[in-house]
Amino acid sequence: MTTTKNLKTTRSEEIFAAAQKLMPGGVNSPVRAFRSVGGQPIVFDHVKGAYMWDVDGNQYIDYVGSWGPAICGHTHPEVIQALHAALEKGTSFGAPCYLENVLAEMVIDAVPSIEMVRFVNSGTEACMAVLRLMRAFTGRDKIIKFEGCYHGHADMFLVKAGSGVATLGLPDSPGVPKSTTENTLTAPYNDLEAVKALFAANPGQIAGVILEPVVGNAGFIPPEAGFLAGLREITRENGALLVFDEVMTGFRIAYGGVQEKFGITPDLTTLGKVIGGGLPVGAYGGRRDIMQMVAPAGPMYQAGTLSGNPLAMTAGIKTLEILQRPGTYEYLEKITHKLVTGILEAAKETGHAACGGNISGMFGFFFTAGPVRNYEEAKQSDLQKFARFHRGMLERGVYLAPSQFEAGFTSLAHTEEDVERTIAAAKETLAGL
Ligand SMILES: *Cc1c(COP(=O)(O)O)cnc(C)c1O
Repeated sequence: MTTTKNLKTTRSEEIFAAAQKLMPGGVNSPVRAFRSVGGQPIVFDHVKGAYMWDVDGNQYIDYVGSWGPAICGHTHPEVIQALHAALEKGTSFGAPCYLENVLAEMVIDAVPSIEMVRFVNSGTEACMAVLRLMRAFTGRDKIIKFEGCYHGHADMFLVKAGSGVATLGLPDSPGVPKSTTENTLTAPYNDLEAVKALFAANPGQIAGVILEPVVGNAGFIPPEAGFLAGLREITRENGALLVFDEVMTGFRIAYGGVQEKFGITPDLTTLGKVIGGGLPVGAYGGRRDIMQMVAPAGPMYQAGTLSGNPLAMTAGIKTLEILQRPGTYEYLEKITHKLVTGILEAAKETGHAACGGNISGMFGFFFTAGPVRNYEEAKQSDLQKFARFHRGMLERGVYLAPSQFEAGFTSLAHTEEDVERTIAAAKETLAGL
């Protein structure tokens, strides 16, 4: 790849201009529109391995990976071949299919908390359903979530954190009634005392705690030592459920997710992204006694026309098979650590305050000296600098998530050479900021 400064994106611009008349903001998911970094979003034509090609023919090293699913690299030949074969047999049965058993067994074997699983079509759907299940099982309405954690776009989760930890959530979006979010309590991430205070102020009323056990949706923020264990203890003491939203981290941080990596087992878990291998899939699962509440085994209703369809199951099964091969997570750790270390060193050399890190193939960095332990601290990052950095990297053929508050992802297809080229691009970009 050559350095493509002053990127030519004429065709992208034409398509995006037309798109803005057809779809709100020209996109079908907001962050894609580049609003937080400015400039034109790039319209893509095709993807392969670690790379993406736009409609003007520019090539990029991709660190978004479709926001996580592309962990084996885009259009992995084995996934594509399996999909072709599945396609011939039909895209959706609307009836049981054996592939559901296969993926269910793989998920149950891999994820410590999951004894039974239900497949859905997105992470949002999984989180909506798990919330209903938390409430159905405990008979309690309130939940605790953390500032900066994203659990999909369902009303109950769209809560901006108030300044006081005990403040009841206010809706984050018009169209979300206050009555829908008044049972959503929020606490700062990595703050056990705040969680204890919420339990003390709402005795016997809190169904459970839901969190990203490693945060990706406020930028990359790992849990501090003892945080996850502390939540496990507090929820147990209060007869509440602990729910790990591993939509991003499942099969990403480790094959068994954060719960395997950190050895803390929640009661329920949500999954998405990687388990669909690039097709729309979500899942929720957990303790058998809780999952038996779900219809038709139990009374909690939840359904889906395309849930468990053979195409999505196939992409998930093949992706997990590839991830089971020896050395995959060690490789992701190696290249991703090299990448983040290289970028942070480049920042240091060029006089920019920065902090960051990675676990396996998930990473992030902030333009602030840090440490960043929660959303408030993440917001200390120099967002204008990030925007200029993002643009500079784009011009040098590196596609980073177009927001400071998103994690980055590598894949098995990223080579050491890709990483070295990325670090070189970062050095050049940072020197010019
Ligand atoms: C992406 C994500 C979701 C939402 O998943 P969608 O498939 O986009 O609906 C929920 N929780 C977390 C932690 C996520 O990263």
